[in-house]
Amino acid sequence: MSETINVTRSSLPDYEEYCAEIRSIWDSHWLTNMGEKHEALEKALGEYLGAPCVTLLTNGHLALENVLEALELHGEIITSPFTFASTTHAIVRSGCTPVFCDVDPETYTIDPKKLEALITERTVAILPIHVYGNLCDVDAIARIAEKHGLKVVYDAAHAFGVKKDGVSAACFGDAAMFSFHATKVFHTIEGGAVCCKDPALRERICDLKNFGIRGPEEVAFVGGNAKMNEFSAAMGLCNLRHLDAWLEERRAVVEHYRARLGGVPGLRLNAVQPGVQSNYAYFPVVFDGCKYTRDEVFARLAEQNIIARKYFYPITNSFDCYRGRPGFDPEATPVARYVGDRVLTLPLYVGLAPDDVDRICDIILG
Ligand SMILES: *Cc1c(COP(=O)(O)O)cnc(C)c1O
Repeated sequence: MSETINVTRSSLPDYEEYCAEIRSIWDSHWLTNMGEKHEALEKALGEYLGAPCVTLLTNGHLALENVLEALELHGEIITSPFTFASTTHAIVRSGCTPVFCDVDPETYTIDPKKLEALITERTVAILPIHVYGNLCDVDAIARIAEKHGLKVVYDAAHAFGVKKDGVSAACFGDAAMFSFHATKVFHTIEGGAVCCKDPALRERICDLKNFGIRGPEEVAFVGGNAKMNEFSAAMGLCNLRHLDAWLEERRAVVEHYRARLGGVPGLRLNAVQPGVQSNYAYFPVVFDGCKYTRDEVFARLAEQNIIARKYFYPITNSFDCYRGRPGFDPEATPVARYVGDRVLTLPLYVGLAPDDVDRICDIILG
């Protein structure tokens, strides 16, 4: 039987390149606490993403929790359930109440047409997700937020390097969270960042990620620990050098899939958004009336050792841990539910062979 093909495979620089990058860590014995790699990566990411303020964190989830805390949000946060567990959990763990808005059937991002009706006097923020790197309707969201005096925090975990009319996903809303988890397009093994325009917000997150410690004898805030270490930052510095070449390779895989699967009745491919520069992070397919159901395709691929992923399924408002909570009802977000029941993300990574893409498509088309 052929080797297992997983839905993703982490990209890596050459072993020697990483060793050369971490040499100075050995020399200095400075392993964490905002060392030189941390500083260099923050600067490099600010330039790559075109973000005025960047702060690095241990992972994307803690980035989200820390930004919600830094903004001092208490109340209802409007979000969508077609996302990874992290988004909804971060809202709940911060003591806020998620209010679920349905998604747009084309982009799977929050549907601004349904958003305003969910605003109450307790609403404090909107937390939309750039699903699969598809950008939310950032202009409509900004208009609604401004009209009602709400903060906007984007979950941009899928949108590293995505731009709309030349403007980076890092620049929308009051803040944008990125994940640099090993499975993401750009990674630091584990890691994350918050990008924002307001230096005071960045400063507050910097305080929160290091116990609120301001100086050797000053502890100004009740912070936690969410600092990125030097080895992760070094991995980021290496990976950033290769990113453009990797995005090119991912683009070729995506185009190959599109050539094979585009136009097939009952298969819905991801929307191509006008003016949006994609990062080719995921290849979701919605199985809607084609030869096989989503679950049948998943099983047929698994028989050949090809592990696709039902992503996002289940949607977050139907998680076991939230059963019975008021407001957690997948029936109230029918589009998210419909897509969640039918979507499969196909293997996509740097180095996925064209023959394997063909094999996957042959199984799907049966
Ligand atoms: C990966 C991911 C996160 C969490 O990021 P981690 O770095 O794994 O903590 C949050 N939201 C979405 C949509 C993600 O894909």
